[in-house]
Amino acid sequence: MESVSRQTLPEPHYLLRRIVTAIGVSIPMIGVLIALGLFWGVAVRPVDLALLFVFYTLTGVGISVGYHRLFTHSAFQTSAAMRGALAILGSFALEGGVIGWACEHRKHHAYSDVEGDPHSPHVSGPGVKGKVKGLWHAHMGWFFSTKGMAETELRFRRDLDADPVLKTVDRLYFLWILLTLGIPFAVGYAVGGTLWLGFEAMVWGGLVRIFLGHHITWSINSICHMFGSRPYKARDESRNNFLLALPSFGESWHNNHHAFPASAIFGIDRGQLDLGALTIRLFERLGLVWNVNAPNESQRALRRASA
Ligand SMILES: [Zn+2]
Ligand SMILES: [Zn+2]
Repeated sequence: MESVSRQTLPEPHYLLRRIVTAIGVSIPMIGVLIALGLFWGVAVRPVDLALLFVFYTLTGVGISVGYHRLFTHSAFQTSAAMRGALAILGSFALEGGVIGWACEHRKHHAYSDVEGDPHSPHVSGPGVKGKVKGLWHAHMGWFFSTKGMAETELRFRRDLDADPVLKTVDRLYFLWILLTLGIPFAVGYAVGGTLWLGFEAMVWGGLVRIFLGHHITWSINSICHMFGSRPYKARDESRNNFLLALPSFGESWHNNHHAFPASAIFGIDRGQLDLGALTIRLFERLGLVWNVNAPNESQRALRRASA
């Protein structure tokens, strides 16, 4: 059984994917520099900020509710139309195609903080130097590493490959890249009436927004495996960090998440703000999603670190 589950699938285009990722990571940073250099205090208009806010929220839901809780962990069930919509919104965050993202994250859970984890901050050697190197690697250095990336264990992707909706959205990734920048441009152009104002809206509502989303997501991999509390038993270094709860849509209750990976609710304890969970509960009330997983009182008590 073990030999079957560890079957691997070669990924011949992994180097190309790395190059595309490197471009996807760098261009939003260039956008931020443009924004700071040219526009700060001079050219940021209400429409730019509205686009930034709306797209940040939509793509945050796409990543946290769609890519992470639904596609990676199957923490609730929903219709094909909702799966498609969430996968497209997640793709707009420019964090890679949905199937590759979910596979990487399943690897992270299977090997969390040991050899095989694609982005652990704890496998880069001892001492302060190792910690700094580890934080960099977990945050974004791992994008530039091809170590262990040539193959993905089949068990991580079999169900994703079998989903025609995900396959289609994944295949159209370049279209989503075009739209995630093109829509803010079009709105800016429609409102402002000039190509320059369209460009400005694309910088704020596209590039700066993507940059912010990237670094919040990556902070979960770096900061939330190093700084914060550990109320639940988990076999890794995952932490709860309240500072990142709001911008990460609840992802930063990361120790809770590693203790209960199949739970759709990350902020499982009192007072833990989890906008992703609130969104799922709202969808549930509207009849758009169902079978929402969450640990009950006694399951939580059993896993408490103090138990
Ligand atoms: Zn983690
Ligand atoms: Zn996860």
